[in-house]
Amino acid sequence: MQEAGAIRQRVPLQAVEQPSLHRRRCAHEIGLVDHASRTAQLSAGAAPMENGLQYDPLEAPEPEEWLAIDEAERIHLTQDYHRRARIRLPNEKLHAVFHVVVENQIALGDEMPVQSTVHRLMAEGLDRHEAIHAIASVLAEFMHDLVNNPGSSTESNQAYFAALQRLTAEGWLVP
Ligand SMILES: [Zn+2]
Repeated sequence: MQEAGAIRQRVPLQAVEQPSLHRRRCAHEIGLVDHASRTAQLSAGAAPMENGLQYDPLEAPEPEEWLAIDEAERIHLTQDYHRRARIRLPNEKLHAVFHVVVENQIALGDEMPVQSTVHRLMAEGLDRHEAIHAIASVLAEFMHDLVNNPGSSTESNQAYFAALQRLTAEGWLVP
């Protein structure tokens, strides 16, 4: 009994926020949680498309260049990366769409707290691809709610930003 009390005392009151079950389910459906081995990711580089464009989530694209690419092409480039990295996904297209939405938000810089969240998660130990997946899992949860519960969407941006603030590398990597 005493030992149990001692253990309890060591647990901080504000434990790391665990992703909700709902968020985890969304993340699984989009293939965000099966972290590819970093070796495979690195070997996926250096094979630009015919038009010279290439996407690599480990390196931030130039915002102006990224936003200048046609949206469908951005999705295509993202799918191409995951194929070259041999990352198996339950739904390639959906996974790519979430990448593109997060990259678009990153490219907006200080207009949204997404770029700063990527930087913080990377400082906490995630690589850039993992950080994008972690953010996409939050986004997926909010979009799911938006579709299924449209009445509650008035302040969804604020709620999304608040959830990004609570997102941590540690919380994301919890198995
Ligand atoms: Zn990915």
